[in-house]
Amino acid sequence: MANVKTLGFGSRLGVWVQGCTIGCKGCCTVESWDSGLGKKLSVDAVIAWTQTHLKACDGLTLSGGEPSEQPQAVLELIRAFKQHWRDSDVLLYSGRSYRYLLKNHRELTESCDILICGPFVQNRPTLALRGSDNQTIHLQTKLAQQRYGDLSDHQNGRQFHIGKNGALAVGIAEKMRIREIITEENHHG
Ligand code: SF4
Repeated sequence: MANVKTLGFGSRLGVWVQGCTIGCKGCCTVESWDSGLGKKLSVDAVIAWTQTHLKACDGLTLSGGEPSEQPQAVLELIRAFKQHWRDSDVLLYSGRSYRYLLKNHRELTESCDILICGPFVQNRPTLALRGSDNQTIHLQTKLAQQRYGDLSDHQNGRQFHIGKNGALAVGIAEKMRIREIITEENHHG
């Protein structure tokens, strides 16, 4: 998806990979768990699509599903993306710990500017760019330090995209705000 503005710096390309075996309770993308679903896309096709559809791109956000369950393809995508979009940063969301990623997928881990790691834990509060406050942020490059060093620049929010296959909400929802909205609606209902 192009022009993602709620999951990282600026206006970004968002790629959600299919397949996740972690199974966090309360995951809001359960439809991404089954690795057999979805459409296969080559790295070349993704990069060609960005060249046709994007005039500028501040970064690539990878989420899922679990990106580390397709480590080679995701690494190739990051490398190709960086070749074409040189001033962009790469932000990767993973439900695995940073230590696990470094141990098992070092090349992939080191290819990212910033990683946000750890499983989603329902009922824990959200923080900037994070669905639950146990998730850790790892700034690995100077560019990441510049863009994400001050997290007050990254307020959570949702962006809605209406497409042929239905509506898509992109971003981190503030749990308190959703509860407040539901309470408000119930109150007025
Ligand atoms: S790691 Fe992400 S996609 Fe996988 S179950 Fe947890 S929240 Fe859902």
